[in-house]
Amino acid sequence: MEARKETHQFKTEVQQMLNLIINSLYSNKEIFLRELISNASDAIDKVRFKAETEPDILGDDTEFKIHLKPDAIKQTFEISDNGVGMTYDEVLENIGTIAKSGTAGFMEALEHAKGHTTLIPELIGQFGVGFYSAFMVADKITLVTRAAGAEANQAVKWVSTGDGSFTIEEAEKPTRGTTITLELKKKEKDEKDFTDQWVIRSIVKQHSDFVGYPITMEVERDEPLPDEEVIKDKDGKPIGATTRKVMKEETLNSMKAIWTRNSSDVKDEEYEEFYKHLGHDWNPPMERLHLKFEGTTEYDALLYIPSKAPFDLFTPERRHGIHLYSKRVFIMDDCKELMPEYFRFVKGVVDASDLNLNVSREILQQDRLVLNIQKNLVKKLFDLLEKMDAEKYNQFYDEFGAVLKEGIYTDPARKDKIASLARYKTTKSEDKWVSLDEYVKNMAEDQKEIYFITGDKLSSLLNSPHLEKLKEKDYEVLLMTDPVDEWVVQSLTEYDGKPLKSAEKGDLELDTVDDTKKEEYNALFGFIKGHLEDKIKEVKPSTRLKESVACLSGDAWDMSAYMEKLLKASGQKPPESKRVLELNMDHPVIEKIKALFESDRDNPQLKDYSQILFDMAVIGEGGKLDNPGQFSKMVGDLMAQAMG
Ligand code: ADP
Ligand code: MG
Repeated sequence: MEARKETHQFKTEVQQMLNLIINSLYSNKEIFLRELISNASDAIDKVRFKAETEPDILGDDTEFKIHLKPDAIKQTFEISDNGVGMTYDEVLENIGTIAKSGTAGFMEALEHAKGHTTLIPELIGQFGVGFYSAFMVADKITLVTRAAGAEANQAVKWVSTGDGSFTIEEAEKPTRGTTITLELKKKEKDEKDFTDQWVIRSIVKQHSDFVGYPITMEVERDEPLPDEEVIKDKDGKPIGATTRKVMKEETLNSMKAIWTRNSSDVKDEEYEEFYKHLGHDWNPPMERLHLKFEGTTEYDALLYIPSKAPFDLFTPERRHGIHLYSKRVFIMDDCKELMPEYFRFVKGVVDASDLNLNVSREILQQDRLVLNIQKNLVKKLFDLLEKMDAEKYNQFYDEFGAVLKEGIYTDPARKDKIASLARYKTTKSEDKWVSLDEYVKNMAEDQKEIYFITGDKLSSLLNSPHLEKLKEKDYEVLLMTDPVDEWVVQSLTEYDGKPLKSAEKGDLELDTVDDTKKEEYNALFGFIKGHLEDKIKEVKPSTRLKESVACLSGDAWDMSAYMEKLLKASGQKPPESKRVLELNMDHPVIEKIKALFESDRDNPQLKDYSQILFDMAVIGEGGKLDNPGQFSKMVGDLMAQAMG
């Protein structure tokens, strides 16, 4: 029978990514080895896991290892594992199609970094980009793999030079697992030689030391010659060589699962290296937490808070950073059941000895043990954050505050705790973070509410006309500039017994409005409303303006302007809602318009003025005009008139 052999094109995104990888000037090309080793280690995890239920699957091939074989003469590098291997269809699906964890995040970040090609090396470092990173160092890659349980003649061979297509065909392989051969690119002057055993040794030590399986390599060693082979002079002194060069297989990694050790026995550098390995992060972590729980719930946990937020913290494909083990046997990564979403940036290992290795994600969700662990870990993390010194905490908050705050509306039971960890810039904080406790402590004597305003830019919030009266009263206002804040304020209606109140909605009740004066303006306000009917629902004397002429506000239950903007940006159509145009009755412009209105109600300029007032209110809160050209022309005409 003719063996099946097919040529396939890479998916467009894969090829785009390959081109970026191949052409990037990324200097840390050695990460390719970390990626291939981690795939090999994953594959062994998988076959061990499978063997739990199908013990026969291993046969006599039970000594797991990852073997490296550099060849300086052929300029090749080979990596083999006796892991789970892949079937023909799995190869097709896993290599050549996108949507693998690392690579998906990479593509997403690339989308965000559009045009900034200088960021690409950084992204490669951060995401690893998995299997494909081997094309940074290889012109051609050959992968031969035999799936666990398959016959020797049911192996698969995949070959590609990274330029658009790959071939896949049936092949033979005597043992289970995968062998990948790289035909190395010509080395540039100052690049590392990936066929040099010392180079490989140091890369493995640096990036893959904790991998749970031996990573082996044949290395050249000096061995003493047997006595009878040593040539000696007549006094018995050796002449010439006493040793010979031999090749010996050596294990390059320590395999130390440091989370199982006592924290007093683990050095800082070991913790840091482990983090870098686990988190695929080149930066040292900001904090670590090594916990051992004994008693009814027994487990070890080693958690880290990274020092920098990853690019994909807010993408739908984002992954959690917790790896779950049981007695050093890997169960799963991306373990969402152990950490709430708002701690998704925490990386680490949890090793729970009582967990069944066959546990599925569905079961994990209801497992009491897992729920207990989650509760413990969350508590410990809160303790850690509360104990951080202010400077460090601010750094933490700059990176992860927006994520942590999600907990205020997703975790009602811990709402107040998380609110106490939230920080905001305020009208008085001068760019420093302020906690709600500090805010409450600094409230004015007669102040009853916690004021806030939401929007996307700190500078425009700080100068928002809505805050003029509040500033005059010397009341502090929280400036909320994260999209999540819109959801936060919907759940956090009060803090420490003080209601939260939007500065742009409802009546601020800061001053009583002069009723007779209000009467006098009724007719004019009615006229303006009539002219702007399709844009606003009411014209009102303002309770919040001092210097500015006009602003837009909403009723207490209306959607804020920022929320409307957010919904529009995400492609949703916010419900039709008109806002209130507030006018400052103490402003000379309003008085003058009133005078004009009373002397000549039909004056066509009145309509222009109404429109300009509305447009000014929109601009004042950083909004966009529907017809900026018209506004500009009207203001131009006005200036010309004013200047005579
Ligand atoms: P990731 O490891 O993040 O899933 P990779 O690009 O590194 O992404 O690998 C893609 C997929 O190819 C893996 O998920 C796995 O299914 C498969 N694969 C890669 N290397 C091996 C291997 N040595 N043995 C078995 N499967 C592998
Ligand atoms: Mg991988």
